[in-house]
Formats: sequence, structure tokens, C-alpha cells
Amino acid sequence: MAAQLLDGRILSAQVEQSIKTRVEALAQKGCVPGLTVILVGDDPASQTYVSNKEKACARLGIRSRTLRMPKDISQETLEKAILEANEDPAVHGILVQLPLPKHLDESRALALILPQKDVDGFHDVNMGRLARGEECVVACTPKGALYMLKSAGIPLEGKEAVVVGRSNIVGKPMALLLLQENATVTICHSRTRDLAAQTRRADILVAAIGKPRFITADMVKPGAVVVDVGINRVDGKLCGDVDFDAVSQVASFITPVPGGVGKMTIAMLMDNTVSAAERAARQA
Ligand code: NDP
Repeated sequence: MAAQLLDGRILSAQVEQSIKTRVEALAQKGCVPGLTVILVGDDPASQTYVSNKEKACARLGIRSRTLRMPKDISQETLEKAILEANEDPAVHGILVQLPLPKHLDESRALALILPQKDVDGFHDVNMGRLARGEECVVACTPKGALYMLKSAGIPLEGKEAVVVGRSNIVGKPMALLLLQENATVTICHSRTRDLAAQTRRADILVAAIGKPRFITADMVKPGAVVVDVGINRVDGKLCGDVDFDAVSQVASFITPVPGGVGKMTIAMLMDNTVSAAERAARQA
């Protein structure tokens, strides 16, 4: 393998170590960070993600509570749960696990979360501040991906960054973060003409597509840094949106799946939760 591995397991363990220290400092002030997760329905992937979040909270001394709700709950019941968590001073972070069942209004639900408790960074206020380049809660996955790039000392200023995917939770915030780092950013999507011509220009290539091994070696410029956000299950095994074996022969740095961006996503959720508790403790 020619490329160096950007290892999310090692890096997230380091981030968790520093979060533990911050949690201990908060404990001295009588504050225990609290995260409430709202999980609607029984989607297996969502159950796994929520269970990983619960485990991370337990490791770090964060109080976590998961409100498991049946898939046919009403919008009103969902909103009531959010409003109660907003009011609860022991809850510093609120996360509504997405996707919600189709009959529920996701945007309305997310907009109800207090922006300072929106540890996923999906609230209009946080997304708007990110777009303006102002301080805000940043969505965990793109925040984690950027953290990986910066920790490896990869220069971003003036670089050609190509993000494939334009979702509100990954592609768009990722592009905004790279723009803030003074990269020249191109966002690609399913209607992009000649995608390979775009990806081949990239010094930094981020794949957030949701299609297994979609980015092949011929789509990558030799020496590019490749960040694979995708999590796909093929024959019971996890793989990313990048054809790892072939692309790692061409790239200079690459993130693996599993053990890459996914690990950082959880670490950044913990970071956002502890930051929210620190803000609340300062204001108490
Ligand atoms: P979405 O389905 O919301 O977005 C996928 C994006 O990929 C869309 O913008 C879509 O374009 C684009 N796309 C689809 N097909 C093509 C194509 N043939 N060529 C170019 N672009 C294409 O997915 P998410 O952003 O939510 O997630 C992306 C991946 O990241 C998934 O595998 C998901 O599981 C994973 N993920 C991983 C996380 C982690 O912690 N590592 C966290 C969140 C997600 P268009 O807009 O035109 O439809």
C-alpha cells in the first residue's frame, strides 16, 4: 500500500483521552455532561449507531439517556420530548437520530432543539452560522473528517478539494469547512457531468455518496488525500464509498472503513456534548 493510513481508531482514542480530562474538570464544578438521544422506530443501522453513542458516553463519564419511541408516534409526541429535553438543565446535548419515519417532519423537529443543545449541528442557526463562517456547533462527521486532515498536518490552503455528495449532514458542511480552511472547493452530486474529470483534479477528495467502492483508482489523482465517509454493508461486511485496495495504491493518505471517519464522528459528538456542558457551566 502506497498511501499512509489516516487511522480513526488511534485518533479518536486520543480525542477521547482529552475529553475525559475535560469531563473530570467539569465534575469538580459539580457538572456532569448529559446527552439525550431520541430514537424513533427500529431501523437496525440507527440502533447500532445509538448503541455506539451510548457506549462512548459510558466510557467518558457522560450521562446518556436514550428515549426509544415506537415508529408510529405522532409529531406532537416527538416535539414534546424535544421541548422537555430543552427545558432540562441536566441535558446539555440533544440528538434526534435520523432518518425519522416518513410521516414525521424532520426539519420541524430539528428546528425545535435549542441551538446551544444541538450537538449534531443540524439546526438552522448552526448551519447558517457555519455558512457565514461564524462560531457554531459543527456537524460531527465533517468536523471529524477535518480533524483527521489537520491532525496529519495535511495542508489545505489553496488546495483543490472535491466533495462528492451534497447532503445537509455531510457533503454541504464538509465543503463549507474546507472553504473556511481556504481550499478551493468543488461540490459534486448525482447530476455532475463527467464526475471522474472533477475527482481527478482533487488534491483532497471526500467521498460521501452511499455507494460501495464507487470511487475507483482511475478517478483519483496520484498523491491525492482521500477521505471516505461512506458506510455501506456488502455481504454482511462494512465498506466505504472508495475502492480502498486500489485507491490506496494511488493516494498519499487514505481513511479506512471501518476505523476511519465513523470513529471520529462519535468522538466529535462527545466533544460537542462536553463543549455544550462547558458553555452551560460558564453561564451558571
Ligand atoms: P445522502 O444519500 O443524503 O447523500 C448522498 C449524496 O451522494 C447526494 O448528494 C447524491 O447526489 C450523491 N450521489 C449519489 N449518487 C451519486 C453519483 N452516482 N455520482 C455523484 N454523486 C452521487 O447520504 P449522506 O450524505 O447522508 O451519507 C453519505 C454516506 O456517508 C453514506 O454511506 C452514509 O452511510 C455515510 N455516513 C457516514 C457517517 C460516518 O459517521 N462516517 C455519518 C453519516 C453518513 P444528489 O444530491 O444529486 O442525490
